[in-house]
Amino acid sequence: MTSLLIRGADLVGRGRSDLLIRSGRFVDPADAGADVAQLDADGLVALPGLVDLHTHLREPGREDAETVHSGTLAAARGGFTAVLAMANTTPVTDTAEAAAHVAALGARDGSAHVVPVGAVSKGLNGVELAELGLMARSSARVRVFSDDGHCVSDARLMRRALEYVRAFDGVIAQHAQDPQLAGVSACCHEGEISGKLGLPGWPAAAEASVVARDVQIAELTRSRLHICHVSCAETVDVIRWAKQRDINVTAEVAPHHLVLTTNEVLGYDPTYKVNPPLRPSEQVEALREALADGTIDAVATDHAPHARHDKDHAFAEAAFGMLGLETALAVVVETMIKSGLLSWTDVAKRMSIMPAHIARLTDQGRPLAVGEPANVVLVDPAARQVIDRNDSASLSRNNPWHGRELPDPVVATIWAGRLTFRKGQ
Ligand SMILES: [Zn+2]
Repeated sequence: MTSLLIRGADLVGRGRSDLLIRSGRFVDPADAGADVAQLDADGLVALPGLVDLHTHLREPGREDAETVHSGTLAAARGGFTAVLAMANTTPVTDTAEAAAHVAALGARDGSAHVVPVGAVSKGLNGVELAELGLMARSSARVRVFSDDGHCVSDARLMRRALEYVRAFDGVIAQHAQDPQLAGVSACCHEGEISGKLGLPGWPAAAEASVVARDVQIAELTRSRLHICHVSCAETVDVIRWAKQRDINVTAEVAPHHLVLTTNEVLGYDPTYKVNPPLRPSEQVEALREALADGTIDAVATDHAPHARHDKDHAFAEAAFGMLGLETALAVVVETMIKSGLLSWTDVAKRMSIMPAHIARLTDQGRPLAVGEPANVVLVDPAARQVIDRNDSASLSRNNPWHGRELPDPVVATIWAGRLTFRKGQ
């Protein structure tokens, strides 16, 4: 394998330094030969490769919307070196064979490490536990289980799932949505705007009440719970309370919930239809604060590509979801770094170290140090761009940032010593 010398990168908190990569790992830069390939990182910040806890790659089953190939190219462009591939594919990732298949697709076509998420229930039906143990013991070594897209609304099933995964240090990642309070048609934050637009409301209580229940079950079972895409202050309050009690709970927030508000929905543009929905600005503020103080542990994209024929409909009928992999770091830089709420060290924690820890990935979220796997993203803190949805590696175009000016941070991404993205090339 070839060598690469990254020259003069800012290793946040540790000053400027060279990084030499050989055979997929960092080695002593003093060993660089005269003819080694070089990458000038003057003025660039080096972060451990980003890890996304929440990606929908759509393969197998919906290769018209995204594939492992296209989705991980988008990941590399966004600075990610690992993505957790959600289980709501066709077929559902609810068996050891299905998990091994997703992992194999990643090994064959991936520009990032593809880590399968296993379903909690068979076929995401919310009734019968999937093969959690077999998935954990399979070659895919599944540790994160989620029915994402659906809530595990049956408390008894949640209890059994939490009890089960304890044996192998797994985690249940909950899409918290009480189906009685926010059913399948609920598509707009419940409030003045949902009333005005005549759209079915999705109240914050439908999320927070499920999280309140689940942290209690996590305490009862002494097991590990993760909350997907936290969207409201009420949920933040519950998680803060649970963490104070030493309940083993972690949480993620999606980039779009850190910026976009319910006002985006006023034009009935289905690009802004997402589950959970965009919330009012005071909720957005609470999420930023929670991410800053660590109540929310991680940023996760909920990258949800959709083909035009699923998204280009009247708002109430359109599919839920937005693209996120290519723009996640840009949004975090804009909202959290520029406002002073997070430092670069914090960003490394929230977008690499903590997600890797939650998913129990041993080769990701590691220090940029000799002997460690060479997963790194080089970041330009100053560059800006106007987002163009057609300039994308994704097969889908449901990009909520189209036409907006944002930072353009990712200069190069290196996964396991391999250059998977370089700006301008
Ligand atoms: Zn979800």
